[in-house]
Amino acid sequence: MADDTSDTLVISDKRKIVRKFGRAIFSKDATVLISVSNIKVMTASKVIAAVQGALGEDSILSCVPKNGDVYEVSLIDIESARAIVDKELKIDNQPIFVRHLSSKVKVVSFMHLSGLITDEQIESKLKLWRVELLGPIKRRRYENTDVFDGTRFMRVRFPPDVSSLPYSVGFQIESGVEYYSVRHDHQEKVCFSCLSPGHLNAACPDRICRSCNKRGHIQRNCPESVCSTCDTIKKDCVCDPPIIWAIGATNVKNKPQR
Ligand SMILES: [Zn+2]
Ligand SMILES: [Zn+2]
Ligand SMILES: [Zn+2]
Repeated sequence: MADDTSDTLVISDKRKIVRKFGRAIFSKDATVLISVSNIKVMTASKVIAAVQGALGEDSILSCVPKNGDVYEVSLIDIESARAIVDKELKIDNQPIFVRHLSSKVKVVSFMHLSGLITDEQIESKLKLWRVELLGPIKRRRYENTDVFDGTRFMRVRFPPDVSSLPYSVGFQIESGVEYYSVRHDHQEKVCFSCLSPGHLNAACPDRICRSCNKRGHIQRNCPESVCSTCDTIKKDCVCDPPIIWAIGATNVKNKPQR
């Protein structure tokens, strides 16, 4: 018991010293990401209070709101980060998830999905991306109501070679395919097909062109296919103003890549 007390004193002294001289502040290992269901409702002051409640008054150095309903929270030391990582804190009776900055465990949101899209459809998308579902698929509500806003979010683990999901995903509904936004923290533009950040879907080396059966481009960008405006093979297109049919380029004739 006496030892416990002295440990507490030591930690407390160290914290004061760190604050006073500004040393060892903002280390990556002492930074965690805290996911909330809606950043507008779960304000920074609520998050700060929850962290202080769990770790003590002077445990938190910064609380920065980020895209995807996430706060980046820097703590006083690695021990503090370890103490709350992978725990489920509660604010206003709602769970918030805490994880390390570099963790493959993330909360992914599918934004404002049609109610006709089933959770099973989401699960099969995740499976396709080799993303492991770690908890139930939850539905976000409008503030202070029981009405869902369509957004569904879930805790997942990315495979080691995947750091980002595509910004948009298509779901088959009765009238055809509808596209919806996918969001998580530290997201970057990746190929729809292989989730690589180095290229977009249209230039994916895994794709095989349906026109010429060569790898590395899709039919839309195939240099062997014919320009619909001038009826010339695309690489020799004589349109004025010229249409750039470069492989993988976002062409004026193409739909913008989402
Ligand atoms: Zn690819
Ligand atoms: Zn081709
Ligand atoms: Zn042309």
